Amino acid sequence: MRTPDVPDDRAALEFRVRELTCLLALDKLAERERTGLDGFLAGTVRLLPPAFGPPGSIGARLVVDGRSFATPGLAPGGPALTAGIAVDGSPRGVVEVVRTIPETVGFGAGERELLDAVAGRVAQLVARREAAEARLVLEDQLRHAERLATIGQLAAGLAHELNEPLANILGFIGLARKEPALPPGARADLDKASSAALHAREVVRKLRDFTRRAPPARVLLDLNRVVRDALYLLEARCGRQGIRLELELAPGGAEVHADPTQLAQVLLNLAVNAVQAMPAGGRLTLATTVAGDRCRLVVADTGEGMNEEVRSRLFLPFFTTKDRDQGTGLGLALVHAIVTDHGGTIEVESEPGRGSRFRVDFPAAAGARETP
Ligand code: ADP
Ligand code: MG
Repeated sequence: MRTPDVPDDRAALEFRVRELTCLLALDKLAERERTGLDGFLAGTVRLLPPAFGPPGSIGARLVVDGRSFATPGLAPGGPALTAGIAVDGSPRGVVEVVRTIPETVGFGAGERELLDAVAGRVAQLVARREAAEARLVLEDQLRHAERLATIGQLAAGLAHELNEPLANILGFIGLARKEPALPPGARADLDKASSAALHAREVVRKLRDFTRRAPPARVLLDLNRVVRDALYLLEARCGRQGIRLELELAPGGAEVHADPTQLAQVLLNLAVNAVQAMPAGGRLTLATTVAGDRCRLVVADTGEGMNEEVRSRLFLPFFTTKDRDQGTGLGLALVHAIVTDHGGTIEVESEPGRGSRFRVDFPAAAGARETP
């Protein structure tokens, strides 16, 4: 077999030109912001044949993370040159060139080097894309946190300003209602005024809960107790609405270090949402478990469930799908903030028409016994 890069200077020079052209085009391709990774890989495959031989004599193939790109009609068989693509030391794919005409001419050392350089460039680009994606996720989380903080400051001031006028409004409505000679129409109007003012007070109260989140007091607390303490509130509410309440509590308890008031808020907000999602009755399950070093609280309902769009926005402050007097959109934002403050995580599974299941995990206090 003849190796094209050894013999004469002219061939070497020609190869050098092809090599540089290829690498330059590759760098240009990588710089193009809008080319996605797939676009870059497809483009790379197109750049390879002219760098490795005369037109029509070379095929190329590139595989990254199982996604494969090849020049049209690439047939295996001829001499091939292959280079592995590795990102941070782990293999992610290969790049390969195959000579189809003449099938007997092999590749030289210069070509080996060029293909290694191409593999290196591809690996770099994959790593860069991944870093950029990770940064986007972080930025998103930061924006979310910043939004919460800004809303918090605004809300604290607002809650303060609104509390007193609202108390006055409700007080005067109460007085007016006591008027014996009130025409029936006026009484109905006052009822509406009162329910609107109560809604406003609820918003203010939630805003205050949200902003006055003192650093959580940490006491040794059994999640089972949080559930039991909330029961008398929930039983009445469920009874009225034809909802069966089921408890599945970890037999050995589920102890965490947490703020009792805040955990009660978490449970009640989740439970109220569940109840609201079952206007025609259903089943509300409250469960606790211990698994490894996590204690879990589950609030599950058999209600209307959520679609993907609702599910992706549910923790945003002021996101609600409910009527004005039913929802403020602050419940789950508060739940999320409290859970995060406690070093916990919250996840939701839901399907429209099938119900929803919220799982809240907290770090277990030392000595929490695993649920059998
Ligand atoms: P609010 O209850 O005031 O609307 P939340 O923050 O508690 O605000 O909830 C936001 C939204 O998430 C609700 O409006 C509802 O669309 C959806 N959601 C929350 N919990 C459930 C649930 N258990 N079932 C169905 N949808 C729910
Ligand atoms: Mg709610």
